[in-house]
Amino acid sequence: MSGDLGPRLASALATAPSDRIVFDLTGIENQYDRLVRELPVTVRFAMKACPVDEVLACLADRGAGFDAASPGEIEQALRLGVPADRIHYGNTVKSDASIAEAHRLGVRTFATDSVQDVAAIAAHAPGARVYCRLTTSGEGALWGLSRKFGCSQDDAVRVLTVARAAGLTPAGLSVHVGSQQMTYDAWRQAVDRLADTMVALREQGIVLDHVNLGGGLPALGYLDRHGHPLEPPLDKMFAVLREGIEEMRHLNAAPLDVVMEPGRHLVADHGAIRAHVYRLTERRQADGEPVHWLYLSCGKFNGLYEMDELCHRLVFPGHSDGEYVAAVVAGPTCDSDDAYRTAHRRVPRGLASGDPVWILSAGAYATGYMTQGFNGFGPLSHTVTRHGPDHAGAAA
Ligand SMILES: *Cc1c(COP(=O)(O)O)cnc(C)c1O
Repeated sequence: MSGDLGPRLASALATAPSDRIVFDLTGIENQYDRLVRELPVTVRFAMKACPVDEVLACLADRGAGFDAASPGEIEQALRLGVPADRIHYGNTVKSDASIAEAHRLGVRTFATDSVQDVAAIAAHAPGARVYCRLTTSGEGALWGLSRKFGCSQDDAVRVLTVARAAGLTPAGLSVHVGSQQMTYDAWRQAVDRLADTMVALREQGIVLDHVNLGGGLPALGYLDRHGHPLEPPLDKMFAVLREGIEEMRHLNAAPLDVVMEPGRHLVADHGAIRAHVYRLTERRQADGEPVHWLYLSCGKFNGLYEMDELCHRLVFPGHSDGEYVAAVVAGPTCDSDDAYRTAHRRVPRGLASGDPVWILSAGAYATGYMTQGFNGFGPLSHTVTRHGPDHAGAAA
């Protein structure tokens, strides 16, 4: 799928009488199946990308585990019946209380990147398995994630050595190349960094049982900030990853499990929003230039949090022919950030207040990033669809 609207989503959107976000569970399952066919990895879905019970349950049924970032996410996964040994605490940022709570809930594998965090894990989750996150540049990604997380190779050796001395199991290394990574070279560099660090650890007598390649795999259906299709080289990324996994397995002195934590890649293209038109206007800016603005019922604060870095494909049902105008597309609130940065999207001139609009590839980072009614615009409800178009529309 590369921005095309599949029949299940199209049917669910067409029959939706009011605004909502729709998830195509069959599409998500197929996406998961494709990933594990392409790569020999254990999947731990990054919950923050889509903390929707039905979506998590369908991934869990497929065999996925979960990358949780807080006791709240761990509790959600457990409530859905996911065994604790398929959940890891993947956030390097944790309080003493959150470590103790995760341990009480049965989680035994923790991400870390500092000796302070390792000391806290040793105190509040004694005997746990830890893996150390290595820093990456974040280059080539729409969201780099580079500075807040991860340490240098030298620090990783120090952190895992300290962990071993504190009675923890130094179990692995991780990276995250940045979200919506657009280059295969980022994966190549990440594998090189992991491999170098594995060698340095072995010199200290530390042999790992897993590496975690993090998230970052792209969605295929986005447009960039200028409205042009983003075309990440996904097949080449898979090829680079397969080669890198083989190299790391060859290098390790023991069997090496390879974990990935995809978020966006599994869900983005399989969720879409049914919103509606508020109004299409034309007014002169201060410089005298006339500009069309298309205001929608949905924007940055109720489903399109990522609208400043990318554009979504828009479908205007019932307006397939007729005249178009170039418009700035924006959400409904009184915040000027609530708009796509692109100046000119082609939109039908005939749009009327109340007309439905479909916003595609909106399945990732939509539900979790909705405000509790900023300016009185409440969060979108969600529905799910499955199998053929006939079965669309189970209620949230
Ligand atoms: C957010 C996050 C992910 C998922 O990233 P995507 O780009 O959505 O795949 C994976 N791992 C960690 C630790 C994260 O913070």
